Amino acid sequence: MTMRPIDFPVELDGSDGEGGGQILRTGLALSMITQRPLSITKIRARRPKPGLMRQHLACVQAARDVCGATVEGDVLGSTSLQFTPGPVKAGRYGFAIASAGSCMLLLQTLLPALLLADDASEIELSGGTHNPMAPPFHFIEQTLAPLVTRLGGRLDLELRRCGFYPAGGGSVLARITPGPLVPFDLMERGAALDRAALCLAPALARNVAQRELETLASLLGWPQEQLQLLPARQNEGPGNALMARLAYEHVTELITVIGEKSVPAESVAHSLVDEVRRYLVHTAPVGEHLADQLALLMALACWKSGRPAAFACTGITPHTRTNCAVIERFLMPLRIEIDPAQVLRITP
Ligand code: AMP
Repeated sequence: MTMRPIDFPVELDGSDGEGGGQILRTGLALSMITQRPLSITKIRARRPKPGLMRQHLACVQAARDVCGATVEGDVLGSTSLQFTPGPVKAGRYGFAIASAGSCMLLLQTLLPALLLADDASEIELSGGTHNPMAPPFHFIEQTLAPLVTRLGGRLDLELRRCGFYPAGGGSVLARITPGPLVPFDLMERGAALDRAALCLAPALARNVAQRELETLASLLGWPQEQLQLLPARQNEGPGNALMARLAYEHVTELITVIGEKSVPAESVAHSLVDEVRRYLVHTAPVGEHLADQLALLMALACWKSGRPAAFACTGITPHTRTNCAVIERFLMPLRIEIDPAQVLRITP
């Protein structure tokens, strides 16, 4: 029988499934962890501007720096990439993303490998912290980080300044502490603990935040004490994020809508309320965005420990299915099945 050489690359087609940047980020993360080279073509083929945008290139470069990879195709607009990883090095790093690209997506790229490293790491990130189509800082801090702790690692975050599109200028410090990761089942929310609406509106007229919070409160019937206008720091903004935090015993869901220049404050609040109601009609703990992000971390814990895990989701997005397919490619023979009741089951 011929053995597969260890340096045989995992070949990903960036147009598969959802066809966005996540195939690249998950591919980079798993290449670093498994030490298998990654070869990816048709990068972000299903996005209006395919190929590596600044923020994706920043993810490639950061992954390269953390593991001393050799890389081909790491230029703006590139639709293919060869990434040959070296050993992951924990330590102190700083990464800046021009054009308000999301710091949090860069963190998403590095977190899995650094959680499995042999020492703690500290990463200073600058760029966008509350971007559309990316996990906002508060989601990573309040939804994802507690689950990282439950898995056996730690992700401690400090928001030094918020960054919004297009000005950027956000700054985040992330401390990642590895630990032996042990998976767990997450099938129920548990008791409802607390809920709050949080509004960020630095460098905007004060009535924007007031109108957003008042509209949300009147639609959901939330009292004044559950509404918070978060204080602005110096040189922050302009920008706007309206968030709802729904905290339960076993999970905290942080739902965000990013305000835009031509969108009235009332519409921002209506969009958020729609999403909150969508979460509240379900009983499953894992929201749609958390599902694709948790799948990778949970799968790694299953892979490392040899134990299975399952979690129940409010919905399964193309992002989640695509991410699971990439995970299975790298962590074979690990399997991820999604049953009709939207429970994601991982078998190592
Ligand atoms: P992509 O569109 O392929 O670049 O991937 C975007 C990533 O950001 C996925 O992991 C999404 O789950 C995540 N994401 C997008 N919007 C949100 C949000 N409002 N809250 C949390 N995560 C988000």
